[in-house]
Amino acid sequence: MKPFTLFVSDLHLDASRPAQMQEFVHFLKSEAHQAQALYILGDLFEFWIGDDDPAEGLGEVIGALQELTAQGVSVKFLHGNRDFLLGAYFARRTGIEILPARQVVDLHGIPTLIEHGDLLCTDDVAYQRYRRRIRHPVTMALLGNLPRSWRLRMGQRLRRISAQAIAGKSPEIMDVNEETVRQVMRSEGVYTMVHGHTHRPAIHEFKVDEIEAVRAVLGDWYEQGSWLVADADGLHPQSVA
Ligand code: MN
Repeated sequence: MKPFTLFVSDLHLDASRPAQMQEFVHFLKSEAHQAQALYILGDLFEFWIGDDDPAEGLGEVIGALQELTAQGVSVKFLHGNRDFLLGAYFARRTGIEILPARQVVDLHGIPTLIEHGDLLCTDDVAYQRYRRRIRHPVTMALLGNLPRSWRLRMGQRLRRISAQAIAGKSPEIMDVNEETVRQVMRSEGVYTMVHGHTHRPAIHEFKVDEIEAVRAVLGDWYEQGSWLVADADGLHPQSVA
């Protein structure tokens, strides 16, 4: 078998959806064990209030991550907009590595830009403003120092607000801005990209200044499991019903 790397994102794991969690645990114990590396590009959890999160009903996923990294599979994580408070304690406990929001990695010889995807949705001006505020180091430090009961309540409130905000926005606004994608590719000098967040799985092939470019979008795990396999031949989307 050729060496390969796996990508997932937007699992939105939550105790209220145990079937989904079982599916992901199965994935971690099967496919992922054969991989060189697994990248989780954000929104692993529906909500994470900090590493003192009670993680109710999520113990099996945490255990399966520990098992996977203990077997020598490298697991990298990028924050999503739901789990940006996942931190160093969780990383140590599970053996995963947390990467910066936008990163270039060597994918079997192909330099590849990876990110959650929310930074590319620049048409959603209100969201970008909110993101700058909430992800500001000062806000993050303040959040970290709030009592856990406050953060739990806040998490529940933010979930409702987010659902309402999404319901009120047009589908175009919630997709990536293609010009932003081109700008990011140009400035990094990297023309292959993998991201999630929009829940619109696809492989987009296009040109940036006459250079062939590829943007792979990961699917969410609400209806089915889906992941991307990357090997020396390229990017191959997979899903199971
Ligand atoms: Mn997201």
